[in-house]
Amino acid sequence: MIVVMQKGAGDDRIQAVSDLVTEWGLKPHVSRGEERTVIGLIGDESKVNEPALEMMSGVEKVMPVLKPYKRASLEFHAQRTVIKIPPARHGDRGLTLGGPGVLVMAGPCSVENRDMILALAAFLKGAGAHLLRGGAFKPRTSPYAFQGLGVEGVRYLSEQRSVVGLPVITEVMDVRDAEMIAEFADLIQVGARNMQNFALLKVLGRCRKPVMLKRGLANTLEELLMSAEYVINAGNEEVILCERGIRTFEPFTRNTLDLSAVPVLKRESHLPVVVDPSHGTGHWDLVAPMARAAVAAGADGLLLEVHPDPAHAISDGPQSLTPGRFKELMRELEAVAGAVGRHLG
Ligand code: PEP
Ligand code: MN
Repeated sequence: MIVVMQKGAGDDRIQAVSDLVTEWGLKPHVSRGEERTVIGLIGDESKVNEPALEMMSGVEKVMPVLKPYKRASLEFHAQRTVIKIPPARHGDRGLTLGGPGVLVMAGPCSVENRDMILALAAFLKGAGAHLLRGGAFKPRTSPYAFQGLGVEGVRYLSEQRSVVGLPVITEVMDVRDAEMIAEFADLIQVGARNMQNFALLKVLGRCRKPVMLKRGLANTLEELLMSAEYVINAGNEEVILCERGIRTFEPFTRNTLDLSAVPVLKRESHLPVVVDPSHGTGHWDLVAPMARAAVAAGADGLLLEVHPDPAHAISDGPQSLTPGRFKELMRELEAVAGAVGRHLG
């Protein structure tokens, strides 16, 4: 249930509503928007005396929230979430995700070795990428496939922060690694296969770094929003939603990239939305068109796989862009972003 306050309702009115709600054993969540304040009620709603609330001074209306996600919903949280990403190097400019700028997160599927990360990061930075992506803990379908360099990989990603200066996004697969990843990474990625690992989501709710949730291979957008709800409810409000394609019957693409997810999530939620056209399509030649389309559809960021030599990549070579193609795409994205009133960065 949410209580919409009248325009200009003062702090004393907001406090009075919060106090009454607290008396009933619920938690008030005050969200101050530019226009007006809304107070979300969290807890057992059977305890709420709706007419009593409606009669209070300063209250405009009391509305039931029919959606199961509350704190992730735009209805509940009038202001869009803008996530601040501090600079990797002292003196550099910080980034924001969810504002007018569109952020490009680029890098290899897997961290393969130190030289590759340092050289590729330097190239990507020069080409205008904003964050470095790279998997150190890899969720592979086969137990015999490369599982990632683990902590060593995280160290290389982290090392480039002081040399090249790109903030880092990397995946956490296990609750036991959460604290370590949260310490080294700027953004914590939860892979599609772990989107409903609720134990992991609760642990990440206690971390002080933003969490990017990738949509599960067979999950609805409502389920994605409910996973975001887990993280927010556990204490971390900095959640990013990522569309990365879902399983369908279509074999021409690895997954079916659901770009309509972008406007739907933007309508339903205040959280930033990122699109991953690399895993979404599985083929490098489809990545640029879908990346351009994602920005046109309103995405706040892109997650792109780039490899110095895709033919020899340890994982996901077929969907990886070469550095040259990445550079070309950045120029195109600048133009698309401009056409929809945004910019890169
Ligand atoms: C990845 O981005 O490295 C990855 C494994 O993606 P997904 O979880 O979407 O399959
Ligand atoms: Mn990959």
